[in-house]
Amino acid sequence: MKCLLLVDIQNGFCSGGNLAVPNGEDIVPIVNRLIAKGRYDLVVASKDWHPADHGSFASQHPGSSPFKMGTLNGKPQMMWPDHCVQGSHDAEFHPGLNVGGIDHVQRKGEDPTIDSYSAFRDNDQSALTGLSGYLARAGIGSLDICGLATDYCVKASALDARAMLPGVKVRFISDASRGIDPTDVKAAIAEMSAAGVGIVTSADVLSER
Ligand SMILES: [Zn+2]
Repeated sequence: MKCLLLVDIQNGFCSGGNLAVPNGEDIVPIVNRLIAKGRYDLVVASKDWHPADHGSFASQHPGSSPFKMGTLNGKPQMMWPDHCVQGSHDAEFHPGLNVGGIDHVQRKGEDPTIDSYSAFRDNDQSALTGLSGYLARAGIGSLDICGLATDYCVKASALDARAMLPGVKVRFISDASRGIDPTDVKAAIAEMSAAGVGIVTSADVLSER
């Protein structure tokens, strides 16, 4: 069984969003083509889904400002602008995304005391979202991953997929993803590759039988 995981394709990470990834929305038509071909048996989408007082928000730390390193629960934490607050427009999927093609939505980042870049578990790797169990029960054999942002949530999800889903072939679809920092994107791709994640393009996927 082939599964596609769409990471955080939400308004907040697209142009006009509170934590916009450069050209994030450019992936939407590519992702729609991947879904439309019907080549995946299961399409799962994650949503960053924060309470308004989430501890990753610079606004919760007096004296801090967005995109500075700070601490959360004693651990290093990038301070972000308020983004993807539960129930807000910012947290909705991009309006161009074919949500009818999504079989399952996995929310993450609901605990205000810790961030969750990965769709599988919190950043301290303790609390699970439930996605790994869901995919294991579904009996998937391969998992393709794409979305926003490559250097944070996509990378963390791909690495966790490798660590938590033994025997599942994991691939990153590069042109169906966008990152925040070009240097970090390169490093993220190298890190994923070193962990056994295949690096492919949507053209590779669409040309497969
Ligand atoms: Zn977030």
